[in-house]
Amino acid sequence: LPVAQSVRIAYYGLHLRFDLVGHSVSGFVIVRCAREPRPRDAVWLDLDSTMHVDSALIDGHRTTVTHVGPRLGVVLPTGESPSPPTVAIHYHGIPSGDALVFERHADQPVISSYGLPYSARAWWPCLDSPAAKADSADIEINAPATLVVASNGRFVSRHENLDGTATTLWSVRYPIYADVIAVAISNYDSFTLVYHPGHADSLAMPFFVFPEDIDKARQDFGVLPAMLASFVTRFGPYPFMGEKYGVVEMAQHSFREHQTVPGYGPQLITGDHHNDWILAHELAHQWFGNALTVRNWSHVWLNEGFATYASLLWREQTTGEADYLAAARAWMVPETYAGALYVPDSGNVDEMFTHVTFRKGALVLHMLRHVMGDSAFFRALRHYVLANMYRTVTTDSFERAAEDIYGRPLDWFFQEWVYHGGAPEYDVSEWTSLHDQRGYHVAIAIRQGQEASVFRMPLDVLLTTRTGSARAVVLDSLRVQRFTVDAPDSVTAVSIDPDGWVIKASVRPAEHVHTGL
Ligand SMILES: [Zn+2]
Repeated sequence: LPVAQSVRIAYYGLHLRFDLVGHSVSGFVIVRCAREPRPRDAVWLDLDSTMHVDSALIDGHRTTVTHVGPRLGVVLPTGESPSPPTVAIHYHGIPSGDALVFERHADQPVISSYGLPYSARAWWPCLDSPAAKADSADIEINAPATLVVASNGRFVSRHENLDGTATTLWSVRYPIYADVIAVAISNYDSFTLVYHPGHADSLAMPFFVFPEDIDKARQDFGVLPAMLASFVTRFGPYPFMGEKYGVVEMAQHSFREHQTVPGYGPQLITGDHHNDWILAHELAHQWFGNALTVRNWSHVWLNEGFATYASLLWREQTTGEADYLAAARAWMVPETYAGALYVPDSGNVDEMFTHVTFRKGALVLHMLRHVMGDSAFFRALRHYVLANMYRTVTTDSFERAAEDIYGRPLDWFFQEWVYHGGAPEYDVSEWTSLHDQRGYHVAIAIRQGQEASVFRMPLDVLLTTRTGSARAVVLDSLRVQRFTVDAPDSVTAVSIDPDGWVIKASVRPAEHVHTGL
């Protein structure tokens, strides 16, 4: 799946018609290159073999194509050309899989796309890599005039044709990658809320839902202007202020962060805010995934871990810190933390959307927040967004942004939590309360019992004393490490990380120690 050719996309123009009877897509897509491709014998795009190319043009002249498997080579004329090529591909076919489906709801049609990695090629020719962000795009859809077409960016126009169809144009003037270009077509009912960030600015928040779900949707989506305002304080200004933030009900029973218009499955609209955490997750993807896009899918945690963490932040804001901490602790199970966040094979989609990516990804941000402190951590998030706005990112981009604010290296943290799996297992059963002429202290031995290599982490220590309690922080980095901590009184109990800021394995029972054969 790697992109062998070096080519940059300036613009995509999708001009498509969907056949409700034959479940097929037909039309043409314009791909304008930002520079000459190298090598320059052809422009190589991605298009599934279930799609059939009818003709192709380069700068208005017919040319030939090579369509091998999911790769489509549009042959360029020999010799120099005055400007980077513009390709037009006329095609038709029946999309396979879940990437674009023809379904029904309440006896009405619904056609919707679902942009998982490497899925755009199932219904339109594109450079199907998150690294290939186009500077802009237009999506022009012809569909029966009884239906509403929702897509990315700003609504431009809709006109009815003599044949009973209508043509709807949406336009995107922010960088966008292929998988998050989306269409959703049905007999939508819609309503619009408005987000006011202050002054004269405002952002339309249009929602497209099946008529039978409109009342429940008004309830559920009513939270979004406040949620958006909350995330702006955490992540910085909404990246697509010139367009919109909407949600569209799609046929697929899932959810996906299509740029400015996430798809939201019918079962998620409940009318009782049951899935606000998903609304938070998809909204956060507009910063983490769309404005900042992973350069390749090995770094998928920068999308999913951040979006999942945003849903924890929303929980913290609405139900309090104790609930936030409890939710984080509940995810500290081996299924979540056993693996590494970094996915070495960027083509292995099955490895990308696991509890490790989503929940460990979120917990790594939770831990980093505690390492850096609240003020520095949230400044780092905003700095990361601002420094990389509309561009592609890797884990290094985030590490650099965090270090810029923290002022100290964080490589140790990213190494142990992003590039490696496992978790520390702390045994703090060995401690002694001391009293001498300098006052009360406690001598503590912290043992790391996990088989994986030793973790370095700052740890909160809670001392329970005869008259109250006290806290300290120690930097633990050895298999067995001894600390002496001042105490206000005689210590009666010692516990490590009492609030759950560090992913920990539970301590194994003492009888696991082997004494030879
Ligand atoms: Zn997500």
